[in-house]
Amino acid sequence: MRSFHLLFKSFALSWLVCSAFFCALPFAGQTQPDIHLPEKRIPDTLTQQVGDSLFAHAMPMEHFHDKNRLIDILRRHGSRPADIKHLEEIEAFEMHYLVFPLRVALVVHPQRPDWTDRRRIEKGIEILNRALVDAWIQYRPVRWDTLYEPITINSLKEDNYDAYYAFSEKYDLRDTTTLYIVDNEENLCADFACARTQGFANILETYTNNVVVDKFFIDDFKVVPHEFGHYLGLHHTAETRFGIERVDGTDCHLLGDRICDTPADPGELFSVYVSYSNCEMKGLKEEGSGLEYRPHINNFMSYYAPCYMRRFAFTQGQLDVMFNAAVQIRGNQIVELGEVPEF
Ligand SMILES: [Zn+2]
Repeated sequence: MRSFHLLFKSFALSWLVCSAFFCALPFAGQTQPDIHLPEKRIPDTLTQQVGDSLFAHAMPMEHFHDKNRLIDILRRHGSRPADIKHLEEIEAFEMHYLVFPLRVALVVHPQRPDWTDRRRIEKGIEILNRALVDAWIQYRPVRWDTLYEPITINSLKEDNYDAYYAFSEKYDLRDTTTLYIVDNEENLCADFACARTQGFANILETYTNNVVVDKFFIDDFKVVPHEFGHYLGLHHTAETRFGIERVDGTDCHLLGDRICDTPADPGELFSVYVSYSNCEMKGLKEEGSGLEYRPHINNFMSYYAPCYMRRFAFTQGQLDVMFNAAVQIRGNQIVELGEVPEF
């Protein structure tokens, strides 16, 4: 068990770089800082290999019908013997939800206290759980804390996120994900430019164990699922750090967001080609091939504006990565079996 934990502890390191460049969901106008990563955050070979295998060998739907795999997952997550016994004894296989514990921490700035209404937070968690239903993952709040700290979402990003790492080290729980709900700046605009970070989370790592969200966006339809998407391994659909995804899907598990059923996404810079009434991009062609881009506009991990009357969604491939990340990377969290949630 210990070696398992250490393996994924080292896994943590490879994706830390993401927090700075890729994981925030900003409004237009935000510029990304130059990042010089301390040595401890440089990925090692083993970490790289585990990350590669997650994207290369994801098996959509595989976990839905495999009783033994589910029992194995429960054992690794220290689940209740009664849950395991229940699965062992059933004749026909029935899928249950994996219910992860969630600690909610409202961070209150002592100089300008703003206590977010608990009902808004509960609504935000329900929005998250609705988004994760098809990944067979649910989060259940097990602990509510109020932390008095003079921080903002921007101050956490200071010194290349060192402030965030120090904060995480002070407050994180080892075996329970924390959702930190924090203040933003009072003045979001300066020199005729406005910027706002709505939230951030590291991708596939266990060095920190949390998601950070701006109080104002706690019950937004996109922000919380987007940040948990990062926490559970997802990149933006327009990700370019691994290389630009091709419209024809060549090497789609290596390029872009490394998930094949999310079509190539040129990014929100090209949103002039999008009709938000019918939720599609039209007329933008890939250089060289001349093929038209057809990105998933209403994807939780895209940067487009919401489409009219269209829900945000994850693709099956994204759901699969999240499920696998939850059971492999977040392996030190105790999981309960749950029934189909009612919303
Ligand atoms: Zn993001």
